[in-house]
Amino acid sequence: MATHDYDLIVIGAGSGGVRASRISASFGAKVAIVEKDRLGGTCVIRGCVPKKLLVYGASFAHEAVDAEGFGWQIEGLMHNWGALISAKDAEISRLEGIYRKLLENAGVDLIEGKGIIIGPNEVLVNGKTLTAERILIAVGGVPSILNTKGMAENAITSNEALDLKELPEKIIIQGGGYIALEFAGIFASLGSDTHLIFRSEFPLRGFDDDVRAHIANCLTDRGVKLHPNTSITKVEKNSDKLSVSLDNNEMIDANQLLAATGRQPNTASLGLDKIGVKMGDVGQILVSENGQTSVPSIFAIGDVTDRVTLTPVAIGEGHAFADTFYGNNQRIMSHELIASAVFSQPPIACVGITEKQAIDRNISVLIFESKFKAMKNTISGRAEQSYMKLVVEHETDKVIGAHMVGPDCAEIMQGIAIAMKMGATKSDFDATVGIHPTAAEEFVTMRTPRV
Ligand code: NDP
Repeated sequence: MATHDYDLIVIGAGSGGVRASRISASFGAKVAIVEKDRLGGTCVIRGCVPKKLLVYGASFAHEAVDAEGFGWQIEGLMHNWGALISAKDAEISRLEGIYRKLLENAGVDLIEGKGIIIGPNEVLVNGKTLTAERILIAVGGVPSILNTKGMAENAITSNEALDLKELPEKIIIQGGGYIALEFAGIFASLGSDTHLIFRSEFPLRGFDDDVRAHIANCLTDRGVKLHPNTSITKVEKNSDKLSVSLDNNEMIDANQLLAATGRQPNTASLGLDKIGVKMGDVGQILVSENGQTSVPSIFAIGDVTDRVTLTPVAIGEGHAFADTFYGNNQRIMSHELIASAVFSQPPIACVGITEKQAIDRNISVLIFESKFKAMKNTISGRAEQSYMKLVVEHETDKVIGAHMVGPDCAEIMQGIAIAMKMGATKSDFDATVGIHPTAAEEFVTMRTPRV
């Protein structure tokens, strides 16, 4: 038996890597984790957490407007972008400290530096070779910027958007996915003239078509200027402004351009091709269900595998890896029925399949839907409506898709996901007594299928 420095070396101290390393260590494994940047990875440092803090910060703008209908007189409403960024930074530093403590308390060796894999059991860090029985790659993804002329030199990504020194007076966001919609909500709410440029008719390809049409209306009503069916052809910098040319021959000037056109696996300089780890078209590491790569001692979890690129999935995969190899509990993380939310303003949440996916899979379905003005909006004066949809399999009565656009939908959808994971039928939803008065009760009071 070869002896190694460690049982396990994890590369990448993001949500998935930290979970895998500390759970493995808690089972008695000797573990090192290698990280070249701050602890916490995309979610804590450059993604979910700072983004959600800015979403909270921005949402008070709408609350303040809505409050007037309830008798509040709010004069001289002003926002200090710098104060929000400082408060966000302080919270991220606090969380990073917690991650450091978690690793310390679990007895995981933290090695700060860039890890390069130089053999099936060897990792080179800071000029030193470390060996391990297993290597787990959890390096996540990085924003991808399109090859359009002038884009790479002039556009920022979500990384920089979270740290801007000033709120841009005018911003163009390229893309119609999660990141584009979330930042559109942040900037538009705080007063930036916000333009969203995307190549399809509606944002959020892959989401339910009714949800996509509904959110497009809501974004427009909240002041985001949508440019559907449009692509950027060229970006030029003129003194302190950017001139962005579009394929419809229009040109828009702006102070900032945010590229939100997807993320790619962060595999570029890990040394994987040299040791025979197989990768796919976009550089994703190809793995079996338990995370094993084409090199049996090397495993990968999270965004770098480009399966379901969500933090809780990376955490789940990391935990399943630790249980399987060090906890004597062989298991695989299920990728079925994963709920997710887009923290746009208003937010969107869903679990299960869309109406179109059901049709494409030849599943006969009944559609239940509800569009309503939330009670708060009756006297706030906001015209915005919430939208809900249930996709129900005709043959079994099972709820196979749930979709919502509207306040609190992410909080509501978590409970619906539990019910669906347990195989709930529409009759189970109908037998559930609603909590009155809430928006959530609509999910258990939709009685008549759409014809
Ligand atoms: P998405 O995949 O969600 O969206 C990418 C957008 O870029 C789409 O609108 C896509 O258009 C567009 N795009 C891609 N290529 C081109 C092109 N060549 N020309 C024009 N447009 C293009 O990626 P994001 O960057 O928004 O987010 C990455 C991932 O991170 C998400 O998929 C999600 O998994 C995760 N995430 C999750 C969040 C959450 O849970 N709240 C928040 C943020 C990110 P088209 O649809 O037409 O291809």
